[in-house]
Amino acid sequence: MNTWRLNSTGWIEVICGSMFSGKSEELIRRLRRAQIARQRVQIFKPRIDDRYSDDHIVSHSELRIESQSVSSSQDILESLGDRTEVVGSDEAQFFDDGIVAVCEKLANMGKRVIVAGLDKDYRGVPFDPIPELLAIAEYITKTLAICVRCGNPAANCTQRLVKSGKRILVGHGNAYEARCRRCYEPPEEAAEEEAAQPRAAVASG
Ligand SMILES: [Zn+2]
Repeated sequence: MNTWRLNSTGWIEVICGSMFSGKSEELIRRLRRAQIARQRVQIFKPRIDDRYSDDHIVSHSELRIESQSVSSSQDILESLGDRTEVVGSDEAQFFDDGIVAVCEKLANMGKRVIVAGLDKDYRGVPFDPIPELLAIAEYITKTLAICVRCGNPAANCTQRLVKSGKRILVGHGNAYEARCRRCYEPPEEAAEEEAAQPRAAVASG
């Protein structure tokens, strides 16, 4: 019998980084370790992400693990089994802001919560609700990609290669590449937006 969980508290782990940095791979690796140890694991992803498979989290390297698609963060609580010990989620940046309270609640219930997501959008702007999750997490892992342009092993920017003002372009894997901060080129519309909106205004909004 697994007695380690008895009386133990929960916690939150966040895995974040740019696209192609191996977030899903790392998430799958941790969840798989828990499954091998016969811990009860439940894995979710927001329904918006239907890139490869509706009932699996799939990494770019083709690793996969079974998951349940949910429409909102609240659905995670409603789908939660009584004996679940570990709760995982990928693409956390696509959840509503309620995901922060849900993760907190799960950890307070004694569960190990592991969430992965993009820390910045294609404009280089922190991708809500990931910053809030980072603030409440016990453990944070920043995954880094290799810059496609120059080979810098510390690439943390997601370069969009097609023109679009939309924050989310799902299912356009070829529309992005990982770049380091030197090679990253912010989209023009983002630069204009920033110029029109002084920092103080952003902070008070
Ligand atoms: Zn570079």
